[in-house]
Amino acid sequence: MSWLAGMMLFTATVLVMEGFAYVLHRWVMHSRLGWAWHESHHREREGWFERNDLYAVVFALPSILLIWGGLNGGWGDWATWTGAGVAFYGVIYFGFHDVIVHGRLPHRIVPRSTYFKRIVQAHKLHHAVESRDGAVSYGFLYAPPVDALKQALKRSAEARVRAAKGASTDRSETRV
Ligand SMILES: [Zn+2]
Ligand SMILES: [Zn+2]
Repeated sequence: MSWLAGMMLFTATVLVMEGFAYVLHRWVMHSRLGWAWHESHHREREGWFERNDLYAVVFALPSILLIWGGLNGGWGDWATWTGAGVAFYGVIYFGFHDVIVHGRLPHRIVPRSTYFKRIVQAHKLHHAVESRDGAVSYGFLYAPPVDALKQALKRSAEARVRAAKGASTDRSETRV
């Protein structure tokens, strides 16, 4: 595989990983099953690690396997480029999400560009909700405009208030 084709595959893998991370975050991590690990990330962390870090460990495995297979397993260059793309996404994700947004390592980076400010604020809005339901902005490197997210957050909060009221009326009705 030529360098150019390799770099294209690498870039495509990074982009696909963002889509994959969105789907995983929205429909697996915030599902009843996935919440068992992800909940720790929507709570205050005690100490260095949280159970949610296990997701990163799980997703490092295919990347390691692909790079190993490409270099030593005779799988071909595509495996190395793809594995490197997955690993690179992991590095960007860690730098953006864990270091810049959540401050897990000391840094002095101040988001200045419109795009950078937007993705940081969008992820902070994701954390405005501590429950499994009602969160907004599941992506990391792409986020809708912040105003749209704020409106969606307001709508989902109102829906939850309505649902809670509905549930309490239901309960009082059954009691009667
Ligand atoms: Zn989440
Ligand atoms: Zn987060």
